[in-house]
Amino acid sequence: VAHLAPLRPVVGGDTRVPLVDGTEVGYANLDVAASAPALQAVADRVTQVLPLYASVHRGAGYLSQVSTALYETARRTVGAFVGAREDDLTIITRNTTDSLNLLAGCVPAQPDGEPGRVLVLDVEHHANLLPWQRATGATVLTGGPTVAETLAQIRDELADAAAGRPYALLALTGASNVTGESLPVDRIVALAHEHGARVVLDGAQLVPHRRISLEATGVDYLAFSGHKTYAPFGAGALVGRRDWLDAGTPYLAGGGAVRRVRTAVTDWHEGPARHEAGSPNVVGAVALAAACEELAALDPAEVVVHESALRQRLVEGLEAIDRVEVVRVWADAVDPVGVVTFTVSGYDPGLVAAYLSAEHGIGVRDGRFCAHPLLGRLGFDAGAVRASVGVGTAGEEVERLVAAVERLVVEGPQAGYDVVDGLWVV
Ligand code: PMP
Repeated sequence: VAHLAPLRPVVGGDTRVPLVDGTEVGYANLDVAASAPALQAVADRVTQVLPLYASVHRGAGYLSQVSTALYETARRTVGAFVGAREDDLTIITRNTTDSLNLLAGCVPAQPDGEPGRVLVLDVEHHANLLPWQRATGATVLTGGPTVAETLAQIRDELADAAAGRPYALLALTGASNVTGESLPVDRIVALAHEHGARVVLDGAQLVPHRRISLEATGVDYLAFSGHKTYAPFGAGALVGRRDWLDAGTPYLAGGGAVRRVRTAVTDWHEGPARHEAGSPNVVGAVALAAACEELAALDPAEVVVHESALRQRLVEGLEAIDRVEVVRVWADAVDPVGVVTFTVSGYDPGLVAAYLSAEHGIGVRDGRFCAHPLLGRLGFDAGAVRASVGVGTAGEEVERLVAAVERLVVEGPQAGYDVVDGLWVV
């Protein structure tokens, strides 16, 4: 894969960084699962609209009208990109965490007033675990070692509950931020719907890498983040079925979410405005929509081929190195997205990450990736190192990582490293 060039230019793709030996090298950003650099086309669009934004919805001035049109067009683009059904709402949020917390306030209560039941797996990012745990006292299912066993566990749990207190919602990752693996969406939707539960997909790691259509899959809700989808921070989306969202608790109380307010009573809007109180992030929404348009213009198969080749090279290259272990959730997972997490025995993950940065100019992530239950179950409580790729990643960057880890194992680090305030530094 050394010859693979990025599929699309990203901002900062030519950044050079200093190394500890005093030389300089092109930065290899293999941490795109945390935050992906903006596509050049996104940056261009932001530059275009910056002079135009003004207050939205309530202003009558020309620029307010332009801004409102930009915002509402962006909303439609984002919804269309993920195959929103005609009656679905597309709510512009801050990020995936925001989207899932919003939805957690909209799960209908059970007939006796108890919170609606939510089922989640222990493989989830905390963003798709804690909102359910807090709002609904979710049931957290410990997944099995294979996809097949995990699906059977989910089916049994849904079926057992159906006779008494059925689940309202199954909250599932679209792709794990630790391993890139996922469960088959069509099977999950079929199982959940058969037992009267809806499905929300945490699309934070899915949407940037695979085309997903709510309409085609029957997924009820999808949450994702702009900053992982090649747009800047600050805008994300929750897309999905209108009825719960229209009836749910308005996410924020404030201007724009209300039709009429008296001192004692308030008449809340329905539709996206209900959950978008306060001045919205017009530029963020436009940037997210620009990223969606740019991704939509790519052949999805080309993205899969590019990123899968990079991922496969990472896995094979790393697994060929003595003392390196690659983390897996399910033995039979298919079509993982470009995330690979590994450990190097004898080296703290924080040291490995510091070494890759200081001696090779490679950016990765270390720690427990906001997925403590999963890392604990798999025996990686001490954390691990994560490398991730996207449409802006070149094959040469992946080769550099494999070579750098090999060098660490064979020769050890060249510089001295220490822990200062909990962080590994040279
Ligand atoms: N879910 C997954 C799978 C993620 O990878 C992340 C980010 N690491 C989130 C949710 C939360 O995303 P955000 O921080 O943008 O809200």
